[in-house]
Amino acid sequence: SKREGFSTIPNVKWEDVGGLDFLRKEFDRYIVRRIKYPEDYEGFGVDLETGFLLYGPPGCGKTLIAKAVANEAGANFIHIKGPELLNKYVGESELAVRTLFSRARTCSPCILFFDEVDALATKRGKEGGWVVERLLNQLLIELDGAEQRQGVFVIGATNRPGVMDRAILRPGRFGKLLYVPLPSPDERGLILKALGRKKPIDASVDLSALGRMEACENFSGADLAALMNEAAMVALEDKLTSTKSTSDAAPCTIKSTHFERALGKIS
Ligand code: ATP
Repeated sequence: SKREGFSTIPNVKWEDVGGLDFLRKEFDRYIVRRIKYPEDYEGFGVDLETGFLLYGPPGCGKTLIAKAVANEAGANFIHIKGPELLNKYVGESELAVRTLFSRARTCSPCILFFDEVDALATKRGKEGGWVVERLLNQLLIELDGAEQRQGVFVIGATNRPGVMDRAILRPGRFGKLLYVPLPSPDERGLILKALGRKKPIDASVDLSALGRMEACENFSGADLAALMNEAAMVALEDKLTSTKSTSDAAPCTIKSTHFERALGKIS
């Protein structure tokens, strides 16, 4: 697996993200165009936010969007999992935070993505303890050095916005809060289409209708990804079985029956 804090342009495209058009528009305005066409932003004296907090239930595309934004902007992406910064010796956590921001500046334009950011920014005096408190203070120092953060954008992600220290949610820090909801029935169809882009889905399969089915109620994007993968496995199983018994060309698309069987398996 990759080194912690390793930076590279992710290969997630917007076509890989289903639904979430509102977020796409926001990020286009706040990050992508700003990186690609900075001259468009000159002369208005507008102070635009550079820090964002994506919050909402697990598996709904927070990480995916952040990567797509970086890809779209042609920016480097540094992925930090909040809790990883905590398993350090005294003083090491603060140093790690300083190093991250300094690395981000070096490879700007860059998106610094803090997954499970609540682990670093729990309300002071609450569950975090003093290690978190010192880490949080260091994070605030780095976030407030915005003038030296040219071309560095920070995106945090959390399932538990309520436990976060209010100080970190101010403008200039993780100042813009964006909710990433569970998909609606129609959005489930869009997510299935995005997930199926590189899979041999049979032309007879109606992914929009599948997304609207009651069996998919309350599915997150991650649940839909599991469904898609299971359907592909069932289809592959069929192909392998039939290849054994006949020399004819084997069926090699994912059909409605495969999705039905997959639904039976995962729910
Ligand atoms: P967590 O809070 O658990 O970290 P998350 O919101 O960051 O979750 P992701 O890691 O982005 O969720 O999503 C997990 C997987 O689910 C993705 O890799 C993708 O396969 C699928 N997925 C989730 N949401 C979407 C979506 N909107 N479009 C396409 N795929 C999605």
